[in-house]
Amino acid sequence: MPSRTPPHRPVLWIATANPGKTREFKGLFGSQFLVRDLHSFKNLPVIRETGKTFEANAKIKALALCRILPGQLILADDSGLVVPALGGRPGVRSARFSGPNATNESNRLKLLRVMMKLQNTARKAYFEATLVLAKDGIVFGVERGRVWGRITHREYGSGGFGYDPIFIPKSFSRTFGQLSPRTKARISHRAQAVRGVMRLLSSKMHKIAVNNHN
Ligand code: IMP
Repeated sequence: MPSRTPPHRPVLWIATANPGKTREFKGLFGSQFLVRDLHSFKNLPVIRETGKTFEANAKIKALALCRILPGQLILADDSGLVVPALGGRPGVRSARFSGPNATNESNRLKLLRVMMKLQNTARKAYFEATLVLAKDGIVFGVERGRVWGRITHREYGSGGFGYDPIFIPKSFSRTFGQLSPRTKARISHRAQAVRGVMRLLSSKMHKIAVNNHN
């Protein structure tokens, strides 16, 4: 069967070394773009995420990567889990919620512990993703996605990454850790934001002039 992959795919650099995020971005962009991330970069300068919002941090990452990769199309993602009953925590600190040596597991355990006494509506939460598309220091657009749900009392499933095993999206009865990657790719915060980026890319393609091919 002939391949449906375009012969010259534009390269899209994702400002992350998180394999969970990269896997999802590759699935979401399909064959349209050749998605690359930072995991194979050696001696990357530390990008300090000092912003107070997802958008501020996504812009910091996008502009830092523009300096490292001139002429390349960059997509920076800042995302996290927000629990209104905890005043918005873990929020922009989702990746490091349990401290500087945090792991996905230690973050989940800390959140379950902090929320131990919270019941019903106090367990409501949402994932948010903010994506910034940029090239050579110019920001072409900011796209957001949000998915509401609730935090379970223990872990269910081992799929996905991060807080997925303790988050049940609204209208579902299983966690992102139990639902298929396909279902997550239909409803997730990241999927919604990527759809916005796709629209942006098709409306501004001539301006962005993506000339970096595989
Ligand atoms: P950052 O965007 O690299 O600062 O980190 C985002 C953090 O939020 C991740 O390390 C995860 O802990 C969490 N997170 C973001 N998106 C998801 C998701 O789709 N599932 C589970 N956890 C997520």
